[in-house]
This record gives sequence, C-alpha cells and structure tokens, in this order.
Amino acid sequence: MLRNIPGVTNFKYASQNAQAVADRWMAVAADYRNTHNLGWTRTDRYILVTQGKINDQVLGAALPRQPALIASVSSYQVIAHEVGHSFTATHEDAEIGWNAWGLPCETYVFPEVSKNRANCYRYTPKNREHIVNYLKDAP
Ligand SMILES: [Zn+2]
Repeated sequence: MLRNIPGVTNFKYASQNAQAVADRWMAVAADYRNTHNLGWTRTDRYILVTQGKINDQVLGAALPRQPALIASVSSYQVIAHEVGHSFTATHEDAEIGWNAWGLPCETYVFPEVSKNRANCYRYTPKNREHIVNYLKDAP
C-alpha cells in the first residue's frame, strides 16, 4: 500500500464521467509502473482506494482484464466488486443471495447497493468461474 505520492495518491477522481476517470487512472498507473520498473502481470492490480465516490451514482470503476481500478470505501463490497470486474466478473452473473441468517444479500458484483440488503461476502459460482478462467492463463 502506497501513500502520499504526488501525482498518484492525490489523483482527482470525482467526476460525472467515470469512464474518463478510469482511463486517466490507467494512464497514471501505467506511468508509475514504467517509472518504477514494476510488473504488470495478469494478477497485478493498481487500486486507487478512495474515501469518496466518483459521483453520486458511481462508487468505483474497473474494466475487464485491466490492472488499474478505482474503489471507494463508501460501501463494504466496492473493492471486491471492482477487483471482480478487473478479473472479468460481470453484473449479469451477480445475484441477490441469502446469508446465513436467512436475509437477502448482495453478491460482490451485484450492480446496485441497497441498505435494505446484507452483503453476501462472496462471488456467485458463475462469477467465480469467470475469475478462475481468467486466472488460468495468468503468468
Ligand atoms: Zn460494477
């Protein structure tokens, strides 16, 4: 975990255009990697963990197979949600499940966060399959 790196950890992530922010963060992470001769394997991740949201509706941003992602700590599952996307998990294969107390819960890549549901603290079997398939080819 890195802190206080000018030009990196003070990245301006608040925006109405989450895609543009994700693209800018990818460029910053790539520049940091190049400057420090770091790895960029299929499992390396450059995660900007933020206190705030990108905007009122967007808590994080990630693209499939891309190592740079942004995740807010505004809700428990955001980091796992965005890491899941970067490892090819999809909203379509997420679901509402049931936790050990019989309450409805959101699996990690479920697209909407509701205070009326618990967190399942897991990926669905289909999203686990996506992640496993992605990692099979990892160097
Ligand atoms: Zn998502």
